[in-house]
Amino acid sequence: MGQSITFHKADQLKAKPDAGQLGFGKYFTDYMFEMDYSAEEGWHDPRIVPYGPISLDPAATIFHYGQEVFEGLKAYRTEDGRILLFRPDKNMERMNQSCARLNIPEIDEKFVIKAIKKLVAVEKDWIPSQSGQSLYIRPFIIGTDPALGVHPSNTYKLLIILSPVGSYFGNSIHPVKIYVEDEFVRAVKGGVGYAKTSGNYAASLKAQTKSEELGFDQVLWLDGVEHKYIEEVGSMNIFFKIEDEVWTPALNGSILPGVTRNSVIGLLKHWGITVKEKKISVRKLFKKAEKQKLLEVFGTGTAAVISPVGFLKWEDKVIKVGNGEIGELSQKLYDTLTGIQTGKSEDQLGWTQEVKIEKEEVKEKAVDKAEEKAEKKPAVTE
Ligand SMILES: *Cc1c(COP(=O)(O)O)cnc(C)c1O
Repeated sequence: MGQSITFHKADQLKAKPDAGQLGFGKYFTDYMFEMDYSAEEGWHDPRIVPYGPISLDPAATIFHYGQEVFEGLKAYRTEDGRILLFRPDKNMERMNQSCARLNIPEIDEKFVIKAIKKLVAVEKDWIPSQSGQSLYIRPFIIGTDPALGVHPSNTYKLLIILSPVGSYFGNSIHPVKIYVEDEFVRAVKGGVGYAKTSGNYAASLKAQTKSEELGFDQVLWLDGVEHKYIEEVGSMNIFFKIEDEVWTPALNGSILPGVTRNSVIGLLKHWGITVKEKKISVRKLFKKAEKQKLLEVFGTGTAAVISPVGFLKWEDKVIKVGNGEIGELSQKLYDTLTGIQTGKSEDQLGWTQEVKIEKEEVKEKAVDKAEEKAEKKPAVTE
């Protein structure tokens, strides 16, 4: 798709939020990326436009039948001022797998990475640079057909929005409390569990609320058929250090294949640690814990990177993992991954991609100048 991305300049830029109060997904940058799909034209009209509300027909497919996929990745500012993306190719590969399951036309992965890089370059001043901070990137696709018949939409919109986010944990990493959900289920084999799609989250909210009411942070899902085997946490995959091995549930069609999960497995293997991707029953896990063999538990996901788990509750049993602090291996994984992401550690596995700034800056200035000259022209092609 050799299309050029047009740039529509905003009249006014927003004030940047206080770097100490970012939280997660509360603030959005000045611009967003937008592109449309129709059967006749395919994906077309890629553009960077001022961030703001979009207008959709009330009958649009997304509102009634939830035809949507999304992704989540981050841009990091290095100490020497470069901008890095972490494995964006993996996110785009997964986006196409999600599209295939949701009956959404596939995207040109390379082109969308190019769009992400261009948008991030335009918004470079929004990338926070304190420890643990980053610019969260949320690409998503929605079905937009104005029709109530149940069928795949014929038209779609792909948007990319950006949000500066703070350190997930604040200053120190606190282990989270996890509630093993044994009534509600999130996904079943044959369903859409492996796709990153809004419906999976809609299905999870009730259990999340229940776990919070019971004093827990997140839900650990069991398989949808027997309610016996461990799947994953709300928006994270889960790992268990059992003696000198690391176990994680095997990808079985109902678990989301996390990029962080894949990276953690890669690092552990690189370090010579035995990783087992297998079916793990919650009963067996609790037995291991009773025998003091469960040494560390952690979740993996783009938002928190590594999230240590301090408590697990299942039926009337409670496991306390470790001493209330992050485990040694969890810490090493966190330090290594965040080190690679922020350019502090050597990227031996070739996981980062740099967003080139200067070239984009020059282009942007050229666009500004061109606009000043031809003031009536609303959009300028790159
Ligand atoms: C996004 C997501 C994850 C984590 O995936 P990463 O690619 O590591 O961010 C895990 N589980 C679910 C349900 C998710 O949506």
